[in-house]
Amino acid sequence: MTALKNNLVKLDEPLEVVENFTHCCLCGTQLEFTHTVDYGNLAIKEEAFCPACSIQTKSSTFTLQ
Ligand SMILES: [Zn+2]
Repeated sequence: MTALKNNLVKLDEPLEVVENFTHCCLCGTQLEFTHTVDYGNLAIKEEAFCPACSIQTKSSTFTLQ
């Protein structure tokens, strides 16, 4: 029973990650996303910006295959 409970907790984690990624962790405002294509590295750089805090909260890079 304890093991089952732990599995359920783990399943909830991805949802929290998504919530943090789309909303500012400081004020909860929905983030604005910008995508920059880096043709030299064949990658797309994604940046999240909070208009309320004026901070860039996250950036990630996707490689084009
Ligand atoms: Zn914010």
